[in-house]
Amino acid sequence: MSNQQPPQFATQLLDWFDSNGRHDLPWQQDINSYRVWVSEIMLQQTQVKTVIPYYRRFMQSFPDINTLAEASQEQVLSHWAGLGYYARGRNLHKAAQLIMAEHNGVFPKDFDSIVGLPGIGRSTAGAILSIALNQRFAILDGNVKRVLSRFFAIEGWPGEKRIESKLWLLADELTPKQRFDDYTQAIMDLGATLCTRSKPNCENCPVQSSCLAFKQEDVTKYPFKKPKKEKPIKQAWLLIRQNQNAQICLYQRPQKGIWGGLWSLPEFESYQACEQYLQSEGSCQQSLIEWDSFRHTFSHYHLDIHPLYLDESVVSGVKDQRAHYNDDSNEEKPEGWYSIQSLLKGEVGIPAPVVKLMNRLDETK
Ligand code: SF4
Repeated sequence: MSNQQPPQFATQLLDWFDSNGRHDLPWQQDINSYRVWVSEIMLQQTQVKTVIPYYRRFMQSFPDINTLAEASQEQVLSHWAGLGYYARGRNLHKAAQLIMAEHNGVFPKDFDSIVGLPGIGRSTAGAILSIALNQRFAILDGNVKRVLSRFFAIEGWPGEKRIESKLWLLADELTPKQRFDDYTQAIMDLGATLCTRSKPNCENCPVQSSCLAFKQEDVTKYPFKKPKKEKPIKQAWLLIRQNQNAQICLYQRPQKGIWGGLWSLPEFESYQACEQYLQSEGSCQQSLIEWDSFRHTFSHYHLDIHPLYLDESVVSGVKDQRAHYNDDSNEEKPEGWYSIQSLLKGEVGIPAPVVKLMNRLDETK
């Protein structure tokens, strides 16, 4: 399989890690399965420097599985607001409750039980078992995929099943027979600090002498890019209703779909739909003010957001009522009124575009 014996790769990597790796990240202190698990979930799709303050705040509020399981989903999501991919926060919460109910509150120690928890895949389970419990398990996160694709000059997109299986095989073969915790951390560090996406620092790489992509002098050719597909563009009209007490009307989004479980502005599929809604509840839609539109990009599509502002302190006849806004479910939505300050302080979890709009509103006061 490989162009060098696996032990050599691991030895070179571990020697480098001992003197150059990262040893003082918050989740590397007081190591246990819970702390490693939370860090691994936060680090999916998010860089270390962004994660650190979120991780610290999360650990302060939820220092163990029990505290997390007993918190409300809102409390958990308000600690996640801004990190994106909110399903990660919801799954973390659900998994903590499952561990309390089915594992007596003790984080499981075997692969099958861990991988059976919501939000934990093979790589995350491997990272928890190797880093927290020093068991021999490989990982294959985005960083490791990049390192191995380059080291072995793998032709093909790592998201493709066939290529991914090949990378898992290589990841497993390269894992040494001891120091599993350090090895996992070391290969993550190599990907994050030297074998970076653009401009990899091959000069200082401990495995450069056997790296095939380096020998080909075509390092950034690997890993192969995902075959291009244009992202569709969707439209949404968000209604910013501000009442006499300067509070903003939000509703809680359904658990499934974008921003699941977060509190957001009422959303409509067109300007007219918003007008009709206000008309139906006896509000004065003539006072609607259109703000500048902006684009928010998700992994699968762009969302062009058209904010509509309604100052209800100058309109009469407004009724507070539970509404059916535009989304895929027909559930009745819990509705609430919040001050801009409490929203900006994270009293409830709100999506990034709503944070942006609240900041805009705050500036115009
Ligand atoms: S030599 Fe360069 S491309 Fe190869 S593993 Fe090291 S940093 Fe990555």
